[in-house]
Amino acid sequence: MRAETFEFLRCPYCGGRLELVESLFHRRDGDEIVDGIIACHCCIFPVVDGIPVMHLLPAATSAREHVEAKRPDLARRVMFGLDDPAQSDIFDRVAASPDATYKETVEAFGPNFEGGYFLYRFGDPTFVVADAVVHAVAGTVLADGGRAIDICGGSGHLTRSLVAVSREAPVLADLYYAKIWLARRFTAPECVPVCCDGNAPLPFARGAFRFAMCTDAFMYIWTKRQFAGEMERLIDPDEGGKPGAAVIGHTHNARTWSPSHGQPLPPEAYAALFETTAPRVFAEAGLFADLLGGHGLDLLREDGRDALDRDPALTIVASRHPGVFARHAPPKPHGRARGVFRLNPLYRAAAEGAGGDAVTLRLHFPDADYEQEYGACRRYLPDEVTVARPLLDQLPSSTLPDGLAGLAARRVVLDLPARYY
Ligand SMILES: [Zn+2]
Repeated sequence: MRAETFEFLRCPYCGGRLELVESLFHRRDGDEIVDGIIACHCCIFPVVDGIPVMHLLPAATSAREHVEAKRPDLARRVMFGLDDPAQSDIFDRVAASPDATYKETVEAFGPNFEGGYFLYRFGDPTFVVADAVVHAVAGTVLADGGRAIDICGGSGHLTRSLVAVSREAPVLADLYYAKIWLARRFTAPECVPVCCDGNAPLPFARGAFRFAMCTDAFMYIWTKRQFAGEMERLIDPDEGGKPGAAVIGHTHNARTWSPSHGQPLPPEAYAALFETTAPRVFAEAGLFADLLGGHGLDLLREDGRDALDRDPALTIVASRHPGVFARHAPPKPHGRARGVFRLNPLYRAAAEGAGGDAVTLRLHFPDADYEQEYGACRRYLPDEVTVARPLLDQLPSSTLPDGLAGLAARRVVLDLPARYY
C-alpha cells in the first residue's frame, strides 16, 4: 500500500483518515506498507500483502487478528478464502513462482473460485463495448489529469483500460480480495488496490476522483441508491474544479431476461438513481453496432424507450463535462503492445495447409454457457481463419507483426498482459 493512498482513503463508517498503527506488527517495502494495521477514529483495518481491507466482514476480522499475531501468511489465506490446507499449499507454491501465469494462478485457487471466463474477458463483446466507453468517457474527463476508480472491478481487466488513459494510477476497488490481488499481480499491476464492500459507503474522500465506473456488476449491488450517490460524491469537484463522469456499464435490464440476471432495474429507474448529475442511458446494442461499424462511439445518440426496453444490457453515463456526450473517434490501433500480442485464447489450430505453410484457426467456445452469454462475439470473430505459419510463429510479440493488423482489428490477435496464459 503506497503512502499516497492515505491522501484519499477514508473509513467507510466514520469518514476519518487512516494511519498506520506503528506499535502493532507491520512490514514495509521502501515506503509501501506490505502488512500492518491502519486505524481511523472508530475502527482498525488490516493491510494484507499490500492491499487495505476496508470492511468488517468475518474474513477481514480474522485477517486482522492474524496480522496482529504476526502471521500475515495466514491473513492472506483467510482473505483468499483458502480453507483447505492442501489447496492452500498448492496455491502458495504457484504464487511463489515468478513464472506462474494468470491462468495457472487462477486454477491454483481451486475449483470453487469463480474464474472460468476471466481468461476470455479481453475478447468478449461486453468488454469490447466497456473498453470503448472507457476510452471515450474517461479519456475525455482525464485528458488533463485526475484519478479514476473502477468499483467492483474484479480482477482488473477494465482497470487496465483506465491505466491507458490515466496519468495517476487508477484505484481498483472490489469486495473479492483474491481478484484484486490477481489484478495487481497480472492484469493491471499499476493500479492502487482497495478491498471494500460496494453495499457500504465507499472508503474514499469526496472529490478524490474525476472518473468513477462500475461495469458488469451493478445489478448485483443491493444498495443501488447509496452506490450511485457515492459515485456522485467521489467525483464531486471542489469549487471551480473540473467536471468528472460516472459510468455504470453493462448493467442488466429488468424488462428483459439475461443470464446471471442479478437484481436489475428498468432503464428509467437507473437514470433516477443520480440526483446531482443528469445521466443518459444507452442501449448496449447501439454502442456495439457503432463499434462494429468502425466509426467509434456516438454518445450524442438518444436511445428511445423501445430500444432501451428491449436491450438486455444498459450503459448509464452521468457527466457535466461538455466533451462527454459527443461523437468519439475509434481508439487508434497500436503497433506496440502494452503487454504482448498473442492469439485470442478462443482460437485453436484446426489444420495445417499443404507443406505446413498455413494454419487454419478455429473459434472454440469453452462451453455452451459461454456461447449463450457471449456469442455476439461472432459478429467480429470469424469462425475460421487461415494464417501463414511464419506470421503466426512471430507471436507472442511486443510489436504487431506486419500482416496481422487485420486479425488484431478483429480481435483474433489481442494485446494481453504479460504472463496471462
Ligand atoms: Zn472509522
